Amino acid sequence: MKSEPKKLSRHVSLLEVPEYTFPYCNTILIEDDACCLIDTAVTDDAFQYLRGKHIDLIVSTHYHVDHNLHNNHFPQAKIMVHEADFPYLGSRERFISTLGSQYVGEDLSRYLKVDQLGYEFREPDETMSDGTIIDLGHTRLEVLHLPGHTAGHCGFLFPDLGLVFSSDIDLDRFGPWYGNAACNLNDFIDSVDRVINLKPEMLITSHASGPITSNIQARLARYRDEFYRREKEVINALYRGKHTLWEIVDENIIYRKFHEPQMRYFEWFMIRQHVLRLIGLGKVFADNDRYYLYDGVRPSNLNLA
Ligand SMILES: [Zn+2]
Ligand SMILES: [Zn+2]
Repeated sequence: MKSEPKKLSRHVSLLEVPEYTFPYCNTILIEDDACCLIDTAVTDDAFQYLRGKHIDLIVSTHYHVDHNLHNNHFPQAKIMVHEADFPYLGSRERFISTLGSQYVGEDLSRYLKVDQLGYEFREPDETMSDGTIIDLGHTRLEVLHLPGHTAGHCGFLFPDLGLVFSSDIDLDRFGPWYGNAACNLNDFIDSVDRVINLKPEMLITSHASGPITSNIQARLARYRDEFYRREKEVINALYRGKHTLWEIVDENIIYRKFHEPQMRYFEWFMIRQHVLRLIGLGKVFADNDRYYLYDGVRPSNLNLA
């Protein structure tokens, strides 16, 4: 293996991938009375390293392919996932139903990477929910349900290590992703706030290099504030006379450029989440598929956070 696993304790190691390389993610290996892997989307090198291990349990943070790539290669292991993501982990058809093709009048499955990757869906075995304790012998971890990115997105608290594994609350410089029909912006904001309030001593995310031990709250706050920056830009666009979702999409508020065609659809779903949130906040109203600011709501008098 090119980069060795990073030991976090006698039983817990971090297997890292280069930052933000699709379809891989950081994984945590716990070798205790039972052997557990949090997510399986390791690179080939780490996969060879793991082949010699007897993995009893795979805990999946959420149903996205870049977290479950090798689920099928550990047939002896049971797979556990949050109940809200359980249906979407096991089948391509149910997975595709989350994309939201019907909202945009386009078959979004044509852009799916799962087919090109030769990814094989495998049904999970067990569910977990917020507060579930996973006891592996000497290591106990607690499930943190952190919805928003997906409905069943989970992180984990390792109380003995002061560690939170926050999964796709990933501190990506680009900001949070909520670009399909299964995402929920309000939940995502609440989930980031929850991690901030836990005041972890150590943070590991699925895609940033880690472990992170300094400025954790400030870095999470900066990541969260990207939601509010985007929302202010949405208000600005409405103020400047952009009234349909597609008109706002073409302002490139989130993606500065659409490098791949599906990015325009990601942008649409994220903008839609902001508009729905602004309706909920009483700042915007809908007239069919056009959206307007209420009188008196101006880019200069917003206090969104
Ligand atoms: Zn994800
Ligand atoms: Zn991810």
